[in-house]
Amino acid sequence: MSKINVFALGGLGENGKNMVVVEVDDRIFVIDAGLKYPSVDLYGVDAVVPDINYLIENKDRIEGLFISHGHEDHIGAISYLLSNINIRVYGTHFTISLIEDFLTENNMNYEDYRLYRINENKTLKFNNVIVSFYNTTHSIPESIAIALHTPDGVIVYCTDFNFNQNAPTRYKTSFEKITDLGKQNVLLLMAESIGAGIVNRSTTDYMFNYTVTNALNNANGRVIVTAFSTDLDRIQKIINLAVDANRKIAIIGRKAQRIIDIAMSSGYLKVPSENFINLKFIDEKNTNEFDDMVVIVTGVRHEPFYVLQRMIRKQDRLIHLNSNDSILMMTTPVPGTEKIAQRTIDMLNREDISIEKIGKDILRSSHANNEDLKLLYSLLKPKYVLPIKGEYRHLIEQAKVAKDYGYDDNHIIIIENGQVVNIENGAVTGYSNVEVGDVLVDGSIIGDINEVVLRDREVLAQEGAILVISNISARNQEILTGPEIVTKGFVYSDDKEELHNKIVTTFNKIATNYLKKRAIDWNGFKKSLTDEISKIIYKAVHKRPIIIPVLIDTQV
Ligand SMILES: [Zn+2]
Repeated sequence: MSKINVFALGGLGENGKNMVVVEVDDRIFVIDAGLKYPSVDLYGVDAVVPDINYLIENKDRIEGLFISHGHEDHIGAISYLLSNINIRVYGTHFTISLIEDFLTENNMNYEDYRLYRINENKTLKFNNVIVSFYNTTHSIPESIAIALHTPDGVIVYCTDFNFNQNAPTRYKTSFEKITDLGKQNVLLLMAESIGAGIVNRSTTDYMFNYTVTNALNNANGRVIVTAFSTDLDRIQKIINLAVDANRKIAIIGRKAQRIIDIAMSSGYLKVPSENFINLKFIDEKNTNEFDDMVVIVTGVRHEPFYVLQRMIRKQDRLIHLNSNDSILMMTTPVPGTEKIAQRTIDMLNREDISIEKIGKDILRSSHANNEDLKLLYSLLKPKYVLPIKGEYRHLIEQAKVAKDYGYDDNHIIIIENGQVVNIENGAVTGYSNVEVGDVLVDGSIIGDINEVVLRDREVLAQEGAILVISNISARNQEILTGPEIVTKGFVYSDDKEELHNKIVTTFNKIATNYLKKRAIDWNGFKKSLTDEISKIIYKAVHKRPIIIPVLIDTQV
């Protein structure tokens, strides 16, 4: 008989930064460590990760971090977590490969950390708790659900999944293992909520194949397909159909390229070598205009649209679009990117480039809908259902599904980040709280200059700009005047003065630091100002104006 606490440090009542904690007696099991992007997706610079103070304070009790799959909203906080507490991490082969790459990208040596590759046939024993896994179907290979076998029953964590029966091998659900678990007294099921409100079983792939094949056959020239790099299964399907249509294939996407490279080098993504083209930079001799080519433009959130815009403006280094090209859009805008998507379509229309948008009705969602959830309930027969992953409305939608299925209110648990469910001897006895919050981290630096300029324009239009102007004497190592703060298109809220003072204080602090040295590092100085001031403003008003430090070296 045990005392169990279950809570989330992120992912409940929000889209991203998923992280669940299960305490069995005094042992702690952490599940997933994801990031989320701040407000609108445009800014690309910073990410938000969960406040992990609770884990830091209790690090000696942690058995490990268990990862469900390799999407950023489930692994994106790992570098932050591991640089604070070096705990063991367990994931499938493909997931761990992505984590290694992610750590490398964050200037960490993955060999310094304890990353363990597991598969669904592995069970791990930690005192009175056994951890097992089963394969799930999602848009990325080797996704798993995690089961903690406690003395009082099994706690199952099954995030991002669906029950698509046509999934390829590395995406298949282990129904046998789920059925086995269902016989073992499942105490609590945590399942994802974001698709809970969708009632219809998603379409089969028939319409998808038909639409893509038609588009490939009817196109006169190149076909440019946009796809999210997280949807590896969809990218594979496009490749297969392009091969069937006797077309050559090129894949574009800077950041996405890493995921795709890993997937290709380890055999998770297959392109027949005779069909694959490595594009060369455009110059007088080379235009990459091969009529039989399919170009798959990949990226996350707004990126595929930016790449298309660059191609239309003839600023891209690989593809310049013309009216012989056709576009097949498989990137239904995620919240915050609708405007860029619409603008991109306007731009394409102006250039008379044909566009076909493939919408949600044809693209099979990789998330569980109403029916998938009910099937999971009936296979696992959990005593309690705890909806995870999603905005608050999504959690409520799953609660309705559970109710509809036959659960009463006492067996459906709705909590938000930081609320702890206390379970004793297999029954919920009450609730308590732990502290939670957001931590802002610097993301990796983005793209080439075009991308930065485009992004700046978007931000400028929506969030405004702040100029921080100061006359400085480098020779005397002192501030002469300022900082003067000029805002454009950015409106302060009520506590204008407080924010203003904070900016000035920060400016002075950073300036003092940089002026200490004889040779002033102007770039570092400006970057620190931009970073720090942008954090202050985001914290105060949740806006991200462009910060432009204007430092004038004045001879006196
Ligand atoms: Zn996912």
